[in-house]
Amino acid sequence: MSILSGLRERLGLKLFLSYLVIIIVGGSVLAGTAEFHAPTVLQRHVERMQAVLGDEPGLIEDFRENFDAAINEILLFSSIFSLAAAIGVSIYVTRRIVGPIQIMMRASHKIAAGEYHERVPVPGSDELGALAQSFNLMAAELEQIEHRRLDLIGNVAHELRTPLSSIRVTMEGVIDGVLPLETETFQGIQREVSRLQRLVYDLEELSRAEAGQLPIRRQRTSIDECIQQAVSRLKLQYEDKQVNLQVTIEPELPAVQADPERVVQVLLNLLGNALQYTPSGKKVWLHTRHTEQAIVIDIQDEGIGIESEHLPHLFERFYRVDKSRSRTGGGSGIGLTVSKHLIEAHGGHISVSSPGLGKGSTFSVKLPLH
Ligand code: ADP
Repeated sequence: MSILSGLRERLGLKLFLSYLVIIIVGGSVLAGTAEFHAPTVLQRHVERMQAVLGDEPGLIEDFRENFDAAINEILLFSSIFSLAAAIGVSIYVTRRIVGPIQIMMRASHKIAAGEYHERVPVPGSDELGALAQSFNLMAAELEQIEHRRLDLIGNVAHELRTPLSSIRVTMEGVIDGVLPLETETFQGIQREVSRLQRLVYDLEELSRAEAGQLPIRRQRTSIDECIQQAVSRLKLQYEDKQVNLQVTIEPELPAVQADPERVVQVLLNLLGNALQYTPSGKKVWLHTRHTEQAIVIDIQDEGIGIESEHLPHLFERFYRVDKSRSRTGGGSGIGLTVSKHLIEAHGGHISVSSPGLGKGSTFSVKLPLH
């Protein structure tokens, strides 16, 4: 029972037994041949010898005995050597195949227990090597997903803490009689609640965008109209801050297959950012260009600019160049991530460039025509 279950559970033992079976079959064939075929051959040989040497019973008997002894010796030696070879080969193959499999098994247990940094050595370039490589790839992906998950939880907690503690402090002040019960106090609380609401909305958008679940209703869309709509919605805010917005749209811009609401949402995000990060008295330009394949909308500002080290990370969720600066402005670093997902869902591309700090920045949205 225990041998059977051991056999079922141990690949090495199975390999060894498979070699043993081959040896036993080979040995039996050899022994059978020696037993049944060799005497016939020998008899033929003896008859030929008798014809040449005459009838010599002692000599023939001696010859027969020597022949049998030689056959038995050969069978014994070949059996011992084959057995030793079977043991040697099965140990080698077991180490070569079972060893890496056992390492991968142990590593997978560790990964299942949350040790995502675990990797396995790659044993050569055969199928086992390829398996080890895919295992490592899977482990790296899982590790990244886990990092992103922890990052997300940390960021959300961080974002919630500021408005919540502000509301708590204000409420404590009101209860203790330190803060007066007047409109301004409640307006402060209302501002923080709005911030929380906006954050929750942004998070919902982000999670749906990352899951590819933001609905995109494609239709023949005039980019010209989308731009006009976004600009008219921000017109007052630009005027309030005295930032000059100059819009240049190419005449007879071709229509694209897109969701106009989503295009407007992206433009509002980019124009809103341009306004937020551009000081009063400066300018923001929006202009379009198009090729045979795509329409490009450039939004360029004379604002604070972005250092080159931040540019590759700008579309990552919760990424803010200057955390304190954005928080006072209410930004959570989600807008650009959602915009990127939306544009990519249209088969387009969004990019940013900036000559450096204090030198403004340009965001470009490319939407395919076909
Ligand atoms: P936020 O809500 O913080 O603005 P975004 O995802 O829209 O989030 O932007 C991410 C970050 O990119 C911002 O916090 C800011 O640091 C930087 N950024 C975006 N647009 C501009 C811009 N026009 N000029 C300078 N920095 C910008």
